[in-house]
Amino acid sequence: MEVLQPSSWGEALAAKDEHPGAVPLAGGTDLLVELNFDRSRPETILDLTRVKELGQWSRDDGEVRLGAGVTYTRLIAELSSELPGLAIASRTVGSPQIRNRGTVGGNLGSSSPAGDALPPLMACRALVEVEKSSGSRIVPIDEFCTGPKKNVLAPDELIAAVRVPVASGPQQFSKIGTRNAMVIAVASFALSLDPANRSVGTGIGSAGPVPLQATEAERFLEGALEEGNLWERRDELPQSAVTRFAQLVSEAARPIDDVRGSAAYRRHALAIMARRTLSWTWAEYRGAR
Ligand SMILES: Cc1cc2nc3c(=O)[nH]c(=O)nc-3n(C[C@H](O)[C@H](O)[C@H](O)COP(=O)(O)OP(=O)(O)OC[C@H]3O[C@@H](n4cnc5c(N)ncnc54)[C@H](O)[C@@H]3O)c2cc1C
Repeated sequence: MEVLQPSSWGEALAAKDEHPGAVPLAGGTDLLVELNFDRSRPETILDLTRVKELGQWSRDDGEVRLGAGVTYTRLIAELSSELPGLAIASRTVGSPQIRNRGTVGGNLGSSSPAGDALPPLMACRALVEVEKSSGSRIVPIDEFCTGPKKNVLAPDELIAAVRVPVASGPQQFSKIGTRNAMVIAVASFALSLDPANRSVGTGIGSAGPVPLQATEAERFLEGALEEGNLWERRDELPQSAVTRFAQLVSEAARPIDDVRGSAAYRRHALAIMARRTLSWTWAEYRGAR
């Protein structure tokens, strides 16, 4: 196996151009499992760990540009107030060792519907910056994954960064697994309240072939908040609205029965997570006068 070790982003893009079959390596927490279990045996590995640019983030014009190589540990330590939903999800990933190595870029690269970074990125309408040596393009997060472990990346492209709007209001993430730590989500849900734009964002994980958005639930809750003038009044949410929101989230899922849970359980769990995250975020919003 050949291992290419570029030391700059320019070199990495040139290497990918020359070796389109080369498999990128960031933290290795997904890729090394693949190699160890002999699920794939690439001829060439493109080790990105020496590319400093990928490990950087910057804040500009209301958004954070998060380099694909920023680890969960750093995200939690450095960006919890700007990107609270993504930080909460990051805290649920694996163990400290996995969070020290694992990256958001790697979660995107793997494109597992169970990837914990993906629902909060969906809820925030993040944009993925994809680059090759001849140029770059921006892919909206809801178009990035195309199927289980599949995405829009062409063989000569790499993920450079993900652009995430700085939160204007409360965000939450909830994940159900068979235990509390070191567990793949059986189902997960992210919610973002955006009072600045009077909008609501959702992301559903592990309950469809790709991460999903509960669009009808979002429109419904936006309507209920407008109707009761609740963004201003910050009154309690009507229970009927909470129940309807939870039901619409559950209906937006496209789950399957598999070893980790049945489709019916996933739908049930999603309704509960939608209800909980809505009550947490709304209580936070009401308290933040
Ligand atoms: C014990 C254990 C527990 C885990 N727990 C969780 C969990 O709770 N939640 C969760 O979501 N995940 C979990 N994972 C999976 C994994 O840690 C995450 O998916 C992590 O985000 C992968 O990041 P990485 O940097 O290690 O990626 P890598 O393994 O280096 O790469 C993953 C994929 O992305 C590609 N890739 C990486 N960087 C780029 C780039 N810049 N451009 C294009 N493609 C790229 C790689 O080629 C590969 O296909 C766990 C893994 C282990 C081993």
